[in-house]
Amino acid sequence: MQSIDSYDFNRKRAIVRFDFNVPLNEKFEVTDDTRIRAAIPTIEKIFSGGGSIIAMTHLGRPKGVTEKYSLKHIIPTLEKLIGKKVIFAPDCVGEEAAELSKNLKPGDFLLLENLRFYAEEEGKPRLDDSATQEEKDAAKKELKVKQKDFVSKLASLADCYVNDAFGTAHRAHASTAIIAANFPNDKMFGYIMNSELKAIDKVLDAPERPFTAILGGSKVSTKITIIKRLLDRVDNLILGGGMSFTFIKALGGKIGLSICEDVELAKEIIREAEAKNVKIYLPVDVVTTTQFDEVFKGNGSVETKISDIRNIPDDAQGLDAGPESIKSWKEALLKSKTILWNGPVGVFEVDTFAAGTLNIAKIVVEATSKGAYSLVGGGDSVAAINKFNLADKVSYVSTGGGALLEYMEGLCLPGIKAIKE
Ligand code: AMP
Repeated sequence: MQSIDSYDFNRKRAIVRFDFNVPLNEKFEVTDDTRIRAAIPTIEKIFSGGGSIIAMTHLGRPKGVTEKYSLKHIIPTLEKLIGKKVIFAPDCVGEEAAELSKNLKPGDFLLLENLRFYAEEEGKPRLDDSATQEEKDAAKKELKVKQKDFVSKLASLADCYVNDAFGTAHRAHASTAIIAANFPNDKMFGYIMNSELKAIDKVLDAPERPFTAILGGSKVSTKITIIKRLLDRVDNLILGGGMSFTFIKALGGKIGLSICEDVELAKEIIREAEAKNVKIYLPVDVVTTTQFDEVFKGNGSVETKISDIRNIPDDAQGLDAGPESIKSWKEALLKSKTILWNGPVGVFEVDTFAAGTLNIAKIVVEATSKGAYSLVGGGDSVAAINKFNLADKVSYVSTGGGALLEYMEGLCLPGIKAIKE
């Protein structure tokens, strides 16, 4: 496996899979350039080594060529951040892209149009719901052949391949995994990918103890594999958010109309945690409302009550961790040397129910300032820590949502395997 640190980029054209899937406003301006800024170290390394860059990425979820999702919209931001002119290929494959790549000089930056304008990128046929199974199978077969051609056309543009898109590493797409085989001796991870893997491996493989994980979010069912894997690693497991109610019910509590899933599964986890000497922290109190329909419409002007989590009124739903819960979690967190946080502990999108998640963020920041290593990851906890402007005060914020969760579950991600193999 090559390393970006030692690879000789001199006069080489590097095709780099970035994740420039950035949000745009109605004027097609980039409203959050974090993902582009994060790519700068990889870009600078290739340029300083004498190479040129062919940048490929997706933007949004287009079902074919769609003006709204054209990557030309990101060019002004990209030019400002890399400090040079961007050459644009209005089709990611084809004669023009080939010609532009042939003429690249060291230090040039060529941006390819949105890969997902082609169904070949994801390898999923774009059929409507009325298609028969036969039609679906035939389309899949045909697309597989076309995908091979698409991959070779992309690969023919460059001399080496760099994957720096952790957020899509769990997808076996043309640009994220399949293309790597065309560069058996010239493929490597970029710096984002390297630091993501280092941060997650540090937490999962060699955590300084005590190690506390905070898991939140709405559902326990989507996080069951991670919970089980963490039970082999952590000392404390804080379970907050919607998933905590299933555990409270499993322990005999009255949870009113709060979210509840498989109680037997929760009992099994509690037993397993006991056997493995992992201390589970559940909320002890919770902010409830009977007007939860309003809350899920985004309206925070509702009446709330703090309730004992084991005794929630029949007509109410628990939507945020209460002050006593935060107090007990704080004690465990401030004693921890490693902290992993995935998932909000309340409906943080609505200010009335954001206090629990805000307090967790502040406590993680405090623990970090006292020397703990803290990794925050997974779509919503990242959104939460950004909302509270605390992202730069924790040790590492992972950019990958689904990719992070799958990696933590112990799955071998296609984008990683394709480089390592
Ligand atoms: P997930 O995608 O499973 O990580 O869940 C994230 C979502 O969980 C966020 O949108 C939160 O609003 C939601 N959430 C957190 N706490 C609760 C709760 N007590 N009840 C319902 N939803 C919640």
